[in-house]
Amino acid sequence: MPSEARLADVSRRAHAARVPTTRRFLPPTPSNDLARAIGARGFRKWYEGRLVESHLYLVLAFLCLILLVAIIEQGGPYNSFGAALLLLGASAIAGWIGLWCTRRYFTILETAQFMSDRSECPHCQAYGRFEILYTGPREDAEGQLSPTLADLPLLFVRCRKCETRWTM
Ligand SMILES: [Zn+2]
Repeated sequence: MPSEARLADVSRRAHAARVPTTRRFLPPTPSNDLARAIGARGFRKWYEGRLVESHLYLVLAFLCLILLVAIIEQGGPYNSFGAALLLLGASAIAGWIGLWCTRRYFTILETAQFMSDRSECPHCQAYGRFEILYTGPREDAEGQLSPTLADLPLLFVRCRKCETRWTM
């Protein structure tokens, strides 16, 4: 099994090989932390953690929506230009944070689901019981994956139960 340092090095190189294109406004993905996070906690716990995290973002997005509606309900006529500007600014900020949280929710969920679909041993069907041997860049020459998923490193894993190896 490769050392922690080697795993980090491979991940770093995989990360450096990625070409940033139109991803500027996408939320940061856990790409090269992925192997480390799964390796440290085990896949099942990692998956549960991602579900919890994504739903916290969803709750936050919902709170922003409520705030936005409350601001709109406040309505006019406004006594001063300053008050109108303040409410306009607050609604813009609430809207922006809400959108960002919604996007984050879908990104995390998409990542977790994608990895979950590949975490079953092809031989003994043990779910999420594997160790990561090493990682590499994910090939997506035909561009079939979303930018978020194309960013994820490819994991080379071994089943803890029957020692079958596969990539996910
Ligand atoms: Zn197995």
